[in-house]
Amino acid sequence: MSLTSNQTILLLKEIGKTLEEHKTLLTELDGAIGDGDHGINMNKGFTAVTKKLDDIQTEDIGHILKTVGMTLVSNVGGASGPLYGTAFMKAAVVVAGKNEIDLHDFVKIMEEAVEGIKMRGKAVPGDKTMLDALEPAYNTLYQAVEENQPIEDILKKVKDAALQGVQYTEKIAAKKGRASYLGERSIGHQDPGAVSSYLILDTIYKTIRNIKD
Ligand code: ADP
Ligand code: MG
Repeated sequence: MSLTSNQTILLLKEIGKTLEEHKTLLTELDGAIGDGDHGINMNKGFTAVTKKLDDIQTEDIGHILKTVGMTLVSNVGGASGPLYGTAFMKAAVVVAGKNEIDLHDFVKIMEEAVEGIKMRGKAVPGDKTMLDALEPAYNTLYQAVEENQPIEDILKKVKDAALQGVQYTEKIAAKKGRASYLGERSIGHQDPGAVSSYLILDTIYKTIRNIKD
């Protein structure tokens, strides 16, 4: 199973729709422990991405992901813009020149995305950030692909691992980002960035499941 350039573009637009649908949820989560703009930021970023993808002229998936990353960096004011932007720009490099990507490429994409976020934000898992969803998701992906599991099972496990990571963020205090100003008072709330990361992975699962059918 592999994704063509057009399917990748479709998937990215689906992510945009999901983030739009969950704009209020993400903003409310951020309102509890941050400045209440995460939903607005993600929606603004991905609305710009969707517009860009409407008239993108290339089939190079590396170029497509790079465009997503640059668009997020330049359109999102909050911390999440440069973080997700770096993730996409780093991921772009490992699929440069490809018109089709498979699960092994997705492993590399996720690895680079997680590395990019760590490099940019200097957070580690346990700091109550998007990394608490993304790192376990990556580890699950790596393991399941090694074991040659069916794609649908793999992507389901990946988004489930991210959801568990989201639930974990509820139990810990923030050490990075705006929520860290609240310290222990951030306990009891899910991290908004972890939730947006989960939503992205859930959309990947649902969209690819439909493409496969
Ligand atoms: P801002 O915090 O600037 O308002 P957003 O509200 O859009 O930006 O994004 C907040 C999210 O960004 C947090 O919930 C967290 O997941 C993520 N985040 C913040 N700082 C970092 C960091 N240093 N490393 C990784 N993720 C971070
Ligand atoms: Mg915010």
